[in-house]
Amino acid sequence: MRRCPYLEELVKDQRIMLRVYKFDCHVDHQSKRKYALSDSPPICVRNYEDCHLYRAERRREDQTITRYTD
Ligand code: SF4
Repeated sequence: MRRCPYLEELVKDQRIMLRVYKFDCHVDHQSKRKYALSDSPPICVRNYEDCHLYRAERRREDQTITRYTD
């Protein structure tokens, strides 16, 4: 499974009709929840390259590396 490198933890909780995904993001240090009726995991384990938090952190890291290699 492809997963965002900044994803700290992902827990799936199955309730009667509802799936609850709980996940922690290393970038904003927030615990988040996503509710879905069918299997629909959060962006962190799908197309995480589209996440604005991922992009911002990746850009910040790339700038740091560039600074050290210049
Ligand atoms: S995809 Fe976005 S919200 Fe999810 S862990 Fe990565 S940076 Fe955080």
